Amino acid sequence: MTTVAAYAAPAANAPLERTTIERRAVREFDVLIDIKFAGICHTDIHLVREGWGEAIFPMVPGHEIAGVVSEVGPGVTKYKVGDRVGVGCLVDSCRECDNCKAGQEHHCVRGAVQTYNAIGRDGEITYGGYATHVVVDENFVVRIPDGLSLDVAAPLLCAGITTYAPLKQWGAGPGKKVAVVGLGGLGHVGVKIAHALGAEVTVLSQSLRKKDDGLKLGADHYYATSDPKTFEELAGSFDLIVSTVSAPLDLSAYLGLLKTGGALVNVGVPEEPIAFHPFSLIGGNKILAGSMIGGIPETQEMLDFCAEHGIGAEIERIAASEINQAYERVLASDVRYRFVIDNATI
Ligand SMILES: [Zn+2]
Ligand SMILES: [Zn+2]
Repeated sequence: MTTVAAYAAPAANAPLERTTIERRAVREFDVLIDIKFAGICHTDIHLVREGWGEAIFPMVPGHEIAGVVSEVGPGVTKYKVGDRVGVGCLVDSCRECDNCKAGQEHHCVRGAVQTYNAIGRDGEITYGGYATHVVVDENFVVRIPDGLSLDVAAPLLCAGITTYAPLKQWGAGPGKKVAVVGLGGLGHVGVKIAHALGAEVTVLSQSLRKKDDGLKLGADHYYATSDPKTFEELAGSFDLIVSTVSAPLDLSAYLGLLKTGGALVNVGVPEEPIAFHPFSLIGGNKILAGSMIGGIPETQEMLDFCAEHGIGAEIERIAASEINQAYERVLASDVRYRFVIDNATI
């Protein structure tokens, strides 16, 4: 065991504070990662505040981890000391079920082990990226290509894969009209990726406040959803809509924006159930789908794609002492577009 510095929430809703945690000794197939940057995802805030139910405390959040390998176990073949690597939302799975074998470890039928707020297969509680170091099995580590700076790469480990996977699955590309709902941490990366895939991209945001940013990030069009005319003008327009917002949406209205056979994919997670009228799905054979992060192979594919297209997150770097303030700003939608902790300040 090694004692490392971290920022943790000691109890639900409590502010995060500097503390120390134990990391396991490096095992045969483990890599020790010197964490350089950790993104602040909205999920961190939901979990610290038990917005999705009971959580484990003390909690060290953080599942957007970028760093450098500083030690490897004797059986490790994929990485060596000095490699630039990332860790996303999961750190283990059963590795035997059909989903795991297919590279869909995040859908492991026995339950993937989340990077924090979870119990590992060894019975130990997992702690996330708001720490100086983390020990992870090499099979749950991805390589960050040289072309990507570690700070702008960190948010890709959650926000990047969360938007890349549904855009790929539902065919975003040349000749397709894609809408991204919400221009926040997830949405702004989604716009960049959809644009790089060759789709015609529209941002649907509450107001036109971030319109200039949206167009610079690669959107072709930008509409305010607070304006009812938007829903008339864009009716039947899109092949694909990816909703990244965690506020409850009027799904019936958004389904009305799809072409016949179009898909609305939800990746945001509101804390309350959402209602919609089935007629809005039946008329036009619409598809209402979900998507949750991605497996390890697709996460690597996403990072390689982002490096090739020069895509990183738009970030605001903060010191660890600013985490609590950053949480308040995320909740107030006052971040452009992802806070990234400089882990050297922990
Ligand atoms: Zn996340
Ligand atoms: Zn499995």
